[in-house]
Amino acid sequence: AISITGVSKSFGKLKALDDVSLELEPGSVTVILGPSGSGKSTLLRTINHLERVDEGYIQIDGDYIGYQRRGDKLYELKEQAILRQRINVGYVFQNFNLFPHLTVLENLIEAPIAHRQLSRHEAIDRAGELLDVVGLRHKADAWPRHLSGGQQQRIAIARALMLNPRVMLFDEPTSALDPELVGEVLDVIKKLARSGTTLVIVTHEVGFAREVADNVVFMVDGRIVEQGSSNQVLNQPRHERTKRFLARVL
Ligand code: ATP
Ligand code: MG
Repeated sequence: AISITGVSKSFGKLKALDDVSLELEPGSVTVILGPSGSGKSTLLRTINHLERVDEGYIQIDGDYIGYQRRGDKLYELKEQAILRQRINVGYVFQNFNLFPHLTVLENLIEAPIAHRQLSRHEAIDRAGELLDVVGLRHKADAWPRHLSGGQQQRIAIARALMLNPRVMLFDEPTSALDPELVGEVLDVIKKLARSGTTLVIVTHEVGFAREVADNVVFMVDGRIVEQGSSNQVLNQPRHERTKRFLARVL
């Protein structure tokens, strides 16, 4: 499970996260909604210690992210230990971020080999399985620039899965795609949701949230305004701000 407890983060005077607490059960799918600038990306980045929190802490299966507990104090981990923790968190960005100078297969096997998680042979086997999951085995030897945006994003998802993360974070995975390519990426994410992978997804696709999310979190100005089951937040929102947001995006 993932616990986010009282997390705050400021950039200068701007409070990007303000006392955020959230519990994610293993296998659950959480969708984060909120207007631009509400802190959604910052929250995802803290889960990976790409942003250091000012207050509070994040635990994945009991491990403090970025920190080690000694007595009742937390000490920041060394770079190497932080990198090892990041292996447990898969991250998919809006803009795919594939390595342009590597083929699809090389993109997939690079990290598990570099982290000595898999032998080259095992990595190639695993890559084949994951290319099947995203329906792109026939593109193993292609260059990223020769793929459509939707295909590139499906490869980015397969790449993030190579390290068997305990949680997958998606930051607006479809917002850079042409509308006709959105469905194929959402279908892959739905497949992961059904397979029991723990997912946290920032998206504006409310229809998708309704279909796959167990929990929905609505953020404004760095705070969680409302969180609950997807039915509760999307169909019976309690807060005026959530109602107005949903009325606008639907
Ligand atoms: P969007 O929907 O536009 O992606 P968001 O909800 O993801 O927005 P964040 O990117 O988390 O919002 O940003 C939250 C606030 O923190 C914004 O006001 C943003 O300008 C600010 N912010 C984020 N990262 C930094 C940074 N590295 N330095 C300074 N300010 C930052
Ligand atoms: Mg963002």
